[in-house]
Amino acid sequence: MFEKILIANRGEIALRVHRACREMGIKTVAVHSQADADAMHVRLADESVCIGPNNPGQSYLHIPAIVAAAEITNADAIHPGYGFLSENPNFAEILEAHQITFIGPTAEHIRLMGDKIAAKDTMRQLGVPVVPGSDGSVDSLEQAAPVAADIGYPVLVKATAGGGGRGMKVVHSEAELAEGLTAARTEARHAFGNDAVYLEKYLALPRHIEIQVLADGQGNVVHLGERDCSLQRRHQKILEEAPSPALNVATRDAIGETVTKAMKDLGYRGVGTIEFLYENGEFFFIEMNTRLQVEHPVTEAITGIDLVREQIRVAAGSSLDLRQEDIGFSGHAVECRINAENPLTFAASPGTVTDYHTPGGLGVRVDSAMYSGYRVPPYYDSLISKLIVHGRNRNECLMRLRRALGEYVIGGVETTIPLHLDLIDDGDFINGAYDIHWLESYIANKSE
Ligand code: ADP
Repeated sequence: MFEKILIANRGEIALRVHRACREMGIKTVAVHSQADADAMHVRLADESVCIGPNNPGQSYLHIPAIVAAAEITNADAIHPGYGFLSENPNFAEILEAHQITFIGPTAEHIRLMGDKIAAKDTMRQLGVPVVPGSDGSVDSLEQAAPVAADIGYPVLVKATAGGGGRGMKVVHSEAELAEGLTAARTEARHAFGNDAVYLEKYLALPRHIEIQVLADGQGNVVHLGERDCSLQRRHQKILEEAPSPALNVATRDAIGETVTKAMKDLGYRGVGTIEFLYENGEFFFIEMNTRLQVEHPVTEAITGIDLVREQIRVAAGSSLDLRQEDIGFSGHAVECRINAENPLTFAASPGTVTDYHTPGGLGVRVDSAMYSGYRVPPYYDSLISKLIVHGRNRNECLMRLRRALGEYVIGGVETTIPLHLDLIDDGDFINGAYDIHWLESYIANKSE
């Protein structure tokens, strides 16, 4: 097992990883930008290294500084968290060349799944159902037009290097196609330095349902059920729950088995999430994330499995000691993403947290690196806390969530807590009757 892990991230996820390490008896190294010198992940780690200025490009994304920090501190592995370098295959390769273990899949698998066209192709070959769309990229209007007509409008133009909901344009008719292609391409070039795009059938009313997998690269793969992440704004998740209100046991087992078999055939190692759109009882693969996800705690709540611990174990070469039949699902869990943002306009609200009081009690978990006096910096993602609530069933979970949200005090910055409080009183949400477009119209109605 590793003796010392460097955590190449910040905020709640750096703390989350630190906690798993501590419980496993592994020492931790925090890295931080100048803005994060007082951050909780820095205070709690055994050692810390300042890796650069506030701009993430010069700190949390700066590979030479991170590798140097690992060498200076003698860390034998690096956990990338999510975001930043977590899906950068070059980073994984560079670490390997420096004899530092990257806690994640092989560089080859990260690269494969980071290219959405290659990912869809691979999944199709592995027997996983994918969203209908173009075979490979579309490079011109002449090439795209017949393909789009064949798929049937509306179609979605998507960037093969896409992420974070960027590089995606809905096109309703052939007249809009040229503009959609150009817009998606331009956005993709600026955001990802790669302007390749492809076409997909735009599904009208799907849910976003994703399957969590855990694999050791030695032939052992399990799935840990699904998360429903349909409540989104601008293709970004706001609230997630497990299990999905839309699936029954037979459907879950069937998709879980399909995914597990695919990951076995691929020889995958690490944690991973296979994302699907689910409509009219059918699953359509959209992408795979080869890392830990923000919403992983809802899975931990209903399975009792510490995903970070398992991720570290398999990265160290241990075999999975879990078999599918050992994995049970108990009760219901919801995660609310709490961002330092205006709850209606979502405009960022950085500043100093003047008052801070977290909810507690049975079934309540708060993953956050905040404290009273903490300054929310303007340079990074606005996620400041995750409230995860577990109950014996969905109703108990929602009652508890309402109670916990009501206790949560975060003064000095605007947060999305009021939005969550409103949501859990909404009839459609209470009935689980929502799809990926529901939240946007809900917010639009509220803003009127
Ligand atoms: P990203 O990598 O940017 O997160 P994804 O491919 O995971 O992009 O898609 C993000 C979200 O965009 C999905 O959860 C869904 O809401 C929407 N989306 C993606 N593909 C489609 C599609 N074919 N039809 C309708 N909505 C889609």
